[in-house]
This record gives sequence, C-alpha cells and structure tokens, in this order.
Amino acid sequence: MTHNVLAYAALDSKSPLVPYTFQQRQARPDDVIIDIEYCGVCHSDLHQARNDWGFSRYPIVPGHEVIGRVKSIGTSVTKFKVGDLVGIGCMVDSCRTCSACHQGLEQYCEAGNTQTYGSLDRHDQTPTYGGYAQTIIASQDFVLKVPENLDTQSIAPILCAGITTWSPLKHWNVGKGSKVAVVGLGGLGHMAIKLAHALDAEVTLFTRSANKEQDARDLGADHVVLSTDPTQMKSVKNQFDLIIDTVPYDHDLKPYIPTLALSGTLVLVGYLGEFSSNSVPMIMGRKSIAGSVIGGIQETQELLDFCGQHNIVSDVEVIDMQNINEAFERMLQSDVKYRFVIDMKSLHAS
Ligand code: ZN
Ligand code: ZN
Repeated sequence: MTHNVLAYAALDSKSPLVPYTFQQRQARPDDVIIDIEYCGVCHSDLHQARNDWGFSRYPIVPGHEVIGRVKSIGTSVTKFKVGDLVGIGCMVDSCRTCSACHQGLEQYCEAGNTQTYGSLDRHDQTPTYGGYAQTIIASQDFVLKVPENLDTQSIAPILCAGITTWSPLKHWNVGKGSKVAVVGLGGLGHMAIKLAHALDAEVTLFTRSANKEQDARDLGADHVVLSTDPTQMKSVKNQFDLIIDTVPYDHDLKPYIPTLALSGTLVLVGYLGEFSSNSVPMIMGRKSIAGSVIGGIQETQELLDFCGQHNIVSDVEVIDMQNINEAFERMLQSDVKYRFVIDMKSLHAS
C-alpha cells in the first residue's frame, strides 16, 4: 500500500519551494517509516533545488539531516521498534556488495549510493524524497539510532555537517596531542571545531574575519588565526597534522600548505571542482591534499553515540517549513549560527 505525503518541493530550478504532495513508494519487509520531527537545512539542499550541479531531477523534496520517530516497521525489521528516536543522513541505500560497501564505506559505493533525495530507488526505480516532509521511508540498514539524552531539535546537522567532518578526523587518527586546524566557520566548520575539541585535539580556526574569534573559542577552538595576515600565517608554519577545509567555493590553498606539519594532510570537504596549488611545499614535507565525503553508516552511528556520550549537538536556528525560502537566502549570506533546522510540526499544521 502506498500513501500520500505532504512535503515542500522545488518544482524547477528557478522557483521557490512550495507545498507538494507525493506518493511514498511501496514499503518492503526491511523498511522503516519515520514520522519526521526535525530536518536540517544543508547547503546542498539549495544547490540541488537550483540545479547548481546540473543533475537535479524534479520535483525535488530536499533534506538529508532527518530526525524523527519510527512510525511503522516491515515484517523483517529487527533493529527498530515503533516509537524509537532515529535519523537518516545523506544515503538511503547502496549496492551492499562492492569493496567499499563491505568496508562500511557506503558513501564511496562503486555503483553509486542511493541519495536520500534526488536519486532513484534501486529496487523499484521510484524517486527518493528527502526530509522536508511528513514522513520518510528507508531500509533499516540505513536508519540510525539517535541518543535520547540530546536536545532533539539540535541533532539533525550531525547527520551531514557532523559526519562530514568526523570521518576525516577518524580516518587521520585525530586524538590527544593532535593539532587540527579548521578553515571556515559555518555549518561544517562549527561541527569540526566541536568534534576535534571533544577528541582532545588542539584546535585552531583559520578565518578571514577577526570578529569570529570569540564564537570560535566558545565552540572549543584553542587558537584563531587570521588567514589574511601573513605574519599570523607564518607563526603557525609546520604546525598542523590535519587541516579540515570546509570552504564551499574555489579558493587558494597555497597559504595553508606551509602550515601543515611533516606528513600532514589538508582535506577538502566543502568544495567540488578544480583547484590549484604548488607541489614544492608538499614534496619537501611529504604533505597531502585529500578529499572526503560524508561517512559510512557504521561511522555515522559511532558519531551519534559519541555525541550522546559527550553531549554534543549543533548550534541551530529552528524555523517553520513555510520560511524555507527566506532561510535559503540567509544561508547564502552565511547569516545563520550555524545551521537552520526545520520544525516539521509546522508542516503538519499547514
Ligand atoms: Zn548536506
Ligand atoms: Zn557498493
């Protein structure tokens, strides 16, 4: 049996999001259907709604930072029961058989993972619809358990902004004694600071605006370096084991490479596209420029558990569904500390 779901959708690349009703795909035995309570607003929601990457499939119901409670389960579901607090991040399926999937790295599935919205379901070819909606459906293997002790409305961004920065922190073994720098203080950057700090690393924020210093320190940064000030940049030469670069547009990496320690890595998590750098400081210090995208399901579960233990959530501004278009505009101006989260009760009421 299928049923209709109320949502907000982009119908084309030019128009604002509008109320939209879609038919949820047929439930399968391993499916969990979730009543959505909160959904984070990610930059990629805006990029996809406006077809900035050229592969959008309309209508698009965005949203891949989804928090809610289990509404119903299929006959073979063993991991969840009705009423559980759960989440869905950026993926709802993958091939489950390739080498990446076998390593729990479904985000790098060789056949391509099934995105939470804007993809086609692997089994029945219906479109996937995201979290700007009343309910969402996914296989239990792509549903995450969410700790009950956290502030529910502030958890959602952990599922994209959080895992995107957590995965490189874990991959490059950040812990006590590590020196980590973060470039950019937005949705991703503020989570990177909180998580690196909670892992006992010494954390530095690179920023172009001096007025972000107090905010960065409040989030857990030990140092703030103005990247536009050559003297300050020189003072951190050969320092960092890992730099997490969250900047979402093309920018010059050359000033950052000399600040990496021997064998250090700068990992790009925000920008897709060509970039230029200079191999000399890389070769002379065995330094790397790398990239990373979100994280696997098991890794995301570990992050949620870690956040539960350390009482970490995102800094959010809660909005009503009806205000999403204004929120998109403010997000473009970086006018949010640090993530919008939609309270989905506002959709039920409309
Ligand atoms: Zn995202
Ligand atoms: Zn795969």
